[in-house]
Amino acid sequence: MKAAAVDSVRKAADALLLDAALQAVPYGFCVWSPQFKLVMFNQHYLDIYGFSRKRVRKGMTLEAIVRLSRELGNHPDQTPEEFLAGYKRELLNNRGGARAKVRELVSGDRWIETAHVFSPGLGWVVTHEDVTEEIASTEIIQRRKRELERQNIRLDAAVNNISQGLCMYDARGRLVICNQPYQRIYNLPEHLLKPGTQLDDILGYLFDEGMQAGVNRDAYISWRREMIARGEYGKTIHELDGRTIMMQHHPMKDGGWVTTHEDITEQRQHEERIRHLARHDALTQLPNRVQFLEEMAAAEPGLERGDRIAVLCIDLDHFKAVNDTLGHSLGDKLLQQVSARLWGATREDDVLARLGGDEFALLLRDIQSPGEAAAIADRIVKAMSNPFTIDGHQLVIGTSVGIAMAPQDGDTAEILMKNADLALYRAKNEGRSTYHFFEPGMDAAIQKRRTIEAGLRLALARGEFRLVYQPLVGLKENRITCLEALLRWDSDRGVVSPAEFIPVAEETGLIVQIGDWVLREACRTAVTWPPGVRVAVNLSAVQFKNKRLFETVEAALRETGLSPARLELEITESLLLSDNEPTLKTLHRLRALGVRISMDDFGTGYSSLSYLRSFPFDKIKIDRSFMRDLKSKGDSLAIIKAVIGLGHSLGMSTTAEGIETEEQLDAVRAQGCNEVQGFLFSPPVSASKVTELLAAEDRPRLRRVS
Ligand code: C2E
Ligand code: CA
Ligand code: CA
Repeated sequence: MKAAAVDSVRKAADALLLDAALQAVPYGFCVWSPQFKLVMFNQHYLDIYGFSRKRVRKGMTLEAIVRLSRELGNHPDQTPEEFLAGYKRELLNNRGGARAKVRELVSGDRWIETAHVFSPGLGWVVTHEDVTEEIASTEIIQRRKRELERQNIRLDAAVNNISQGLCMYDARGRLVICNQPYQRIYNLPEHLLKPGTQLDDILGYLFDEGMQAGVNRDAYISWRREMIARGEYGKTIHELDGRTIMMQHHPMKDGGWVTTHEDITEQRQHEERIRHLARHDALTQLPNRVQFLEEMAAAEPGLERGDRIAVLCIDLDHFKAVNDTLGHSLGDKLLQQVSARLWGATREDDVLARLGGDEFALLLRDIQSPGEAAAIADRIVKAMSNPFTIDGHQLVIGTSVGIAMAPQDGDTAEILMKNADLALYRAKNEGRSTYHFFEPGMDAAIQKRRTIEAGLRLALARGEFRLVYQPLVGLKENRITCLEALLRWDSDRGVVSPAEFIPVAEETGLIVQIGDWVLREACRTAVTWPPGVRVAVNLSAVQFKNKRLFETVEAALRETGLSPARLELEITESLLLSDNEPTLKTLHRLRALGVRISMDDFGTGYSSLSYLRSFPFDKIKIDRSFMRDLKSKGDSLAIIKAVIGLGHSLGMSTTAEGIETEEQLDAVRAQGCNEVQGFLFSPPVSASKVTELLAAEDRPRLRRVS
């Protein structure tokens, strides 16, 4: 073989080998001559750009390839001219032998990375690689990174935006993250907020700053450590700089933990206030029933050890009248003054509480004898009997006190309260403004009262009431001038005294209906008497609350035909406890009608003589207690004398009640009393007996008076 032939065969073989090698390269490969002609290429090169084998030949110009490429939709963002110019510039700029990389976008949104190396004599050797996936994956990474950043910003914002302080620690006890509220709550310096800070360093700092955690520093730290070691939840209260912080420790699965810190100072104060409110009376700031019973319960165990305590139930007399007539706001002010005065009468260790309404209770701890309790009760009664001045009104109210002693009257709060209440009830029944000790058997009294109440509700319908009449004798006239109608109740259990059932009727309001009946019945009976004889009817204060009282009286007179001048209405001082416009108005209207108004039981109330000036009474009835005491108490006569004198000067007639002896009669007669009433002349008698008495008067004169 000729050398030239051999050479050409070898060349051909080389070319084949080269071609085979080229095809085996896993990326596109081509060579551009320095004149930008295609020298060689492989199949990958064609595939990458979508060139068909038929259209690409060796020796094609770069320009032709670019046009072909453009036809196939490659590098769509540039014109072929632009691309060509740019590519040529790229190649020409890189003739130093170093590898240069270019990325281009081809059809189907693929990214091709070309790298070219200039080889003198050969031209540019260019490799083409589809890097779409690679780019995509780095893009994803980039995007994720950006997202993570955004998330972190969001997390930061979230963590800092919650009002609670928050810290996260890793399993090795290093701070991972904490928020601004955390820093604010504990006022921590910057350096302790850096990730990596140890919990111990922070706790050490806080304890140095004076943090209180309920236990001492060492106990607290070991408690935290145990909680961490056991992966348990826990919470505690920290006190720092006058603030209260609730710390909660939440374990995490990986051994780390999160703590939350909440400033609960205000909440605590709020709770404190609510607790105070729940246990105190808002009006007087005194402990209320709840607190009182708790204090009592707390005293119970001491009783077994021989402690002695006393419970006083305190109830204002006539408070309801003040409230009803002068209004609740004045009533409230009165209660405030009352509680201040009561409190002033107590000792340091005593617990005074307002149980509700006008009811108070006093717990006396460490009391040696009933006498000691009595002394305090007496002090209270006396203190309360002085007038109160409120908004220019002078108010006189009294107070009644019931006392139960432990252990003799009971050993539980409940029993003691009940028994003190029973004793109070007795004090009230004994004329108020007094105190009374509990006595066995008082229970029965209450039971009796209940029976009365139940019976009273039916008495009217059953016709169990009747009236008896007690004469009032005119000393100058020397005859019966008036008869007082007194109510009697023939109940299942016999005759019940009005002293027993009238208060019950008043409390239940039944007195209004009963009073109406009395009025009619008295008027009906009185018309049958001689014209010069009047009838007196007792009116309870409760009846004045009924707005129709005037109309009721008017109707009774009209229907029975009794002249108004023959009707006397007896009212007590309690009605006039304070200026009571509606009551006074009714009284004036009644008086204008011609009815006479008497002040009953004068001298028993807390009123001063000034009450007499609030209304022009026709008659003053001096209470029978003064007659009873006439002999024993010197001042009784003085009072009788003063009242009679006052009556004269005010133009009011005076009647002495309860005259039982000649002696009493002589005494009141000597003072110029106008009228007398009492067993000395006659007890209350039936209507038919009255007719007899009045008929007898026409004949011989009443023996005793004449
Ligand atoms: P009061 O208005 O002071 O009536 C006089 C009471 O004194 C009567 O008692 C009468 O029996 C009693 N008494 C009369 N003379 C003497 C005496 O010489 N010595 C003694 N120790 N007592 C004497 P009574 O009938 O038991 O009435 C008690 C109270 O009940 C009355 O006191 C009155 O406040 C009330 N009351 C009676 N009837 C009525 C009524 O119809 N309506 C109202 N609201 N109250 C009435
Ligand atoms: Ca009377
Ligand atoms: Ca009387």
